[in-house]
Amino acid sequence: MSSLRLPRTIYEAIRAHGEETYPHECCGALLGRFIAVDSSSDEAGGWVIEDAVRAGNTRTDSAHNRYQIAPVELVKIEREARTHGLDIAGFYHSHPDHPAQWSKTDFEEAHWIGCCYVITEVAQGKAAVTNSFLLAGQREEDKRFERQTIEIAGDATESQRE
Ligand SMILES: [Zn+2]
Repeated sequence: MSSLRLPRTIYEAIRAHGEETYPHECCGALLGRFIAVDSSSDEAGGWVIEDAVRAGNTRTDSAHNRYQIAPVELVKIEREARTHGLDIAGFYHSHPDHPAQWSKTDFEEAHWIGCCYVITEVAQGKAAVTNSFLLAGQREEDKRFERQTIEIAGDATESQRE
């Protein structure tokens, strides 16, 4: 199973975001660096997250069960990430009073193959389970979500910015 490395401060921040927007979904992007598989060790490759960016939920029609980041906002996030040497590593959103499992809509709207999709269940306003799914596959036709482990690092790295 692949893993996602997340500093505790970011893990807490995305869960807090879900509590703030409850009973609506929150969403945002995860920025980081991809560490390739090192053949000299047993360490699996994967994303190391260094930052999280909150995004406005543009799905005002049914913000409680759908999410989307406006393309113009996404372009801005990506450009900003690049200036810090980071890439978009994935996306996060919350499921108010629903399990931290991807939905059919989540799957249909996931197009960033190789990126991770983090979902937090917010039960009665409190963040509960957080899961991460890697969007695996080669292209849109054979994409699939694979559950991955979340490794929470003790502290944010020195690259954390104010
Ligand atoms: Zn969802």
